[in-house]
Amino acid sequence: MKDTFKHKGLRQQLVNELKHKGIVDKSVLNAINNIPRHLFMDSGFLHYAYVDKAFPIAADQTISQPYTVAFQTELLQIKKGDKILEIGTGSGYQTAVLCEMGARVYSIERQNELFKKTSKFLPKLGYRAKKLIFGDGYIGLREEAPFDGILVTAGAPYVPTPLLSQLKIGGRLVIPVGDDVQEMTMFTRKGPKEFDKEEFGAFRFVPLLEDKN
Ligand code: SAH
Repeated sequence: MKDTFKHKGLRQQLVNELKHKGIVDKSVLNAINNIPRHLFMDSGFLHYAYVDKAFPIAADQTISQPYTVAFQTELLQIKKGDKILEIGTGSGYQTAVLCEMGARVYSIERQNELFKKTSKFLPKLGYRAKKLIFGDGYIGLREEAPFDGILVTAGAPYVPTPLLSQLKIGGRLVIPVGDDVQEMTMFTRKGPKEFDKEEFGAFRFVPLLEDKN
């Protein structure tokens, strides 16, 4: 579990690339600059960890592309202490970004293998989510609602209603919606039954699957 000067240098280059691609939120860029992404990948391939691409992890899943992580996180406009629900813990990289930004993080994963692996790994790096849950993200986490933000990191064929109803007034749901290609979509809760909807272009994610495995 080493983080060398070489890794740090590559990370700085990645952060510059993300700035060129339009990411401006300093706390997001700072988190990416601080987190050793290579340790979140099975093989620890140095050359792939800091390329702006998605990469395979266990259980046929992927660690999201750094640009996508940055883009979704920026949309949430996170402040220290915000209560955030993530759907799709996966490698835990996005979870670490949220923790690093001072959010109180709850994260749900449906693949038991990934859930177990990431639950052990994140605390070793010093990232303590409030709760990691083995479960089905379609139903959200009612017992901890409402949330300042909900972040879905898999492609959802439709918008699960429980996620909308678990937002605070003023809270945001960031969710890629669609089957093969997803439209990055953000809902902002304006009132008990009122939501603003904005769209931010096409992205590609592994699918949000029903039920846990
Ligand atoms: N945030 C992750 C991205 C992992 S890819 C990272 O930074 O590495 C998406 C993840 O969503 C996968 O791990 C997949 O198993 C998980 N997933 C898919 N459907 C789900 C569901 N219904 N509930 C919870 N997690 C789900």
